[in-house]
Amino acid sequence: MAERLKGKPVADAMKEDLVKRVEDLKAKGVTPKIGLIRVGANPDDLFYEGGIKKTSDGIGLAYEIFEHPEDVNQEEFEQSVLSVGADSSIHGILMFAPLPKHLDEKKIRSLIPVEKDVDCMTLGSAGKVFTDDQTGFPPCTPTACMEMLKFYEIPLKGKKVTVVGRSLIVGKPVAMLLLREHATVTICHSRTENLDQVCAGADILVAAVGRAKMIGSSYVKPGQIVIDVGINPDPDNPGKYCGDVDFAAVEPIVDKITPVPGGVGSVTTIVLCKHTVMACEMQQGR
Ligand code: NAP
Repeated sequence: MAERLKGKPVADAMKEDLVKRVEDLKAKGVTPKIGLIRVGANPDDLFYEGGIKKTSDGIGLAYEIFEHPEDVNQEEFEQSVLSVGADSSIHGILMFAPLPKHLDEKKIRSLIPVEKDVDCMTLGSAGKVFTDDQTGFPPCTPTACMEMLKFYEIPLKGKKVTVVGRSLIVGKPVAMLLLREHATVTICHSRTENLDQVCAGADILVAAVGRAKMIGSSYVKPGQIVIDVGINPDPDNPGKYCGDVDFAAVEPIVDKITPVPGGVGSVTTIVLCKHTVMACEMQQGR
């Protein structure tokens, strides 16, 4: 049976560290604060927002919500994003996306100051991630994968890692972060030939596909470590969700595996808080 790499111990350890760092900042007269920009009331956004509020409360991080009606116009919204960006009491910004279709999301993202861009919404942050400039924040989910690997002391240097998925929010940045740690990275996607063989050849497999239970027994081998980033409605259990990995088929074969739920997803929100605390520390240091 594989070791289950659970997210909670990782999140708990990160929380302990952040509580101290927030106390240190407060002792210097600064309360780190995240600004949450939301348009409309999408249930997924509200769920994520609730998690951020709870996690922030747990570490003493302040937050402010900037809520806009679903039909907010471009000009008004741009002004609001600019004013949140210019507010020196706010150190990190998360804008829930995607925005409604009538808004020019690309332009609005570009208005977020890079130093406050704690979830890599801007091209400036992406550029920093891809050029190994550690003053830029990667998206929270790839960072959560790296926090999991670090916490469970999984060596990366020289290891063969296959990432399935090449999105800008997960696949590509996680590949860059793995490269930074000297892994030998293969990035796969929907046109990859012999995908199962490419996956089975890896020491570590990162699944970020968005297809429920797609990674089955032929994609893995004994001794492998599997990081499942997927969050999908479970076709076999209505109302529940599952990963990109067929856990029941893969878990008996591999050495270690992250469960879904309870794996990478449970580290993402604390990463957002960590990025905000880091942004605050960097802004104080200027
Ligand atoms: P995405 O933008 O839809 O990208 C999916 C990637 O998988 C694409 O690169 C796509 O290839 C590739 N792909 C799709 N079908 C494939 C197939 N049959 N064979 C090989 N590759 C295939 O998804 P995403 O935003 O990266 O999210 C991926 C998963 O992570 C989703 O389940 C999402 O819910 C989850 N997620 C989790 C968190 C978290 O906090 N844990 C956060 C964000 C996302 P092409 O490029 O060729 O189309």
